[in-house]
Amino acid sequence: MIGPRPQVAATKPYHLPNVQASIILSVNESPYNLPQAIIDEIKDELDNIAYNRYPDPMSLELRMLIGSAYGLHAANVFVGNGGDEVIQNLYLAYGGQGRKAVTFEPMFEIYGITGRVTETEIVPILRDPKDFTAENVIPQAYGTDASLIFLCCPNNPTGDMVSLDRIEELLQNTEALVVVDEAYGEFSGRTAIPLLSKYENLAILRTFSKAFSLAGLRAGYLLASEGVIENLLKVKLFFNFNRLSQAIAKIAFNNRNIFDEQIKKILEERGRVSGEMSKIKGIEAFPTHSNFILFRTEKLAADVWQGLLDRGILIRNCSNQPLLENCLRVNIGTPKENDAFLSALCEIV
Ligand code: PMP
Repeated sequence: MIGPRPQVAATKPYHLPNVQASIILSVNESPYNLPQAIIDEIKDELDNIAYNRYPDPMSLELRMLIGSAYGLHAANVFVGNGGDEVIQNLYLAYGGQGRKAVTFEPMFEIYGITGRVTETEIVPILRDPKDFTAENVIPQAYGTDASLIFLCCPNNPTGDMVSLDRIEELLQNTEALVVVDEAYGEFSGRTAIPLLSKYENLAILRTFSKAFSLAGLRAGYLLASEGVIENLLKVKLFFNFNRLSQAIAKIAFNNRNIFDEQIKKILEERGRVSGEMSKIKGIEAFPTHSNFILFRTEKLAADVWQGLLDRGILIRNCSNQPLLENCLRVNIGTPKENDAFLSALCEIV
């Protein structure tokens, strides 16, 4: 039988280990399910959905709602099934054969994988090996002739941020579409959204999967100039975002203030867990602006990962990524989950 395109044949699948664990701190989800008030509103809405009808292909109401929260219009908002689908559409519209995309490694691996699958040439720029910041290496992107530049702020898996000055400088020095991924923006309390009115080559990616407790729904959005959004609307699947997702995302976004309490709890725990980790001998925990912590172990990371799993705790082994030898990433869970993680880690290292 005929094989797939060479780029697909050469792609390693993005595997998450298929293991059982009672405490899952490996994929940066919120440890808290939706607040009850939002669940109740969704329940009421479920009775009113015309399941027999196709959804609005333009997701107009949701796009208007999101846009108006940022002083923008529906025409400045694109929505998709998670940030992942938005990233795929960015590559479909702006990447492809003969085009380049810059990534700052190590970063969210889906950028490299989706880039390669869409036959976009990836230009990986290495972060500072000491503190993983991209701050000083960003100028290397200026002369790359790329059509896309992806910068995660905070970055996954390193947790660091780049200053707004540096982002502005980048925007002024490139013709590329610069995508600032703020999937974890609610945890950093900082956003590049105010720069949108100044730069038409800026796009900002956000998701409902992290601070909004909706990883199970699959909903994400991009804010950008009208021209960029128009191009994404051309390449997306026609009915990409289903009726249920549109309805639930609207309810969650309308009630976004309710999530402040959960975000606050996660940030408090982040401070506590970071503090405790800094006291553990045999590991180095890196500073973070997100809901996860990257750390390096003196022991083999694979052994630490397995030791935690043997105690029912799943975290992420990042050792295969550039610069991250013996590094692991743990996301903040409930206080009880964090305690279990900390005491298991102490035992193992
Ligand atoms: N961007 C970054 C930096 C991420 O870490 C993730 C998820 N891990 C995403 C985007 C995509 O998230 P989702 O598809 O769940 O919206």
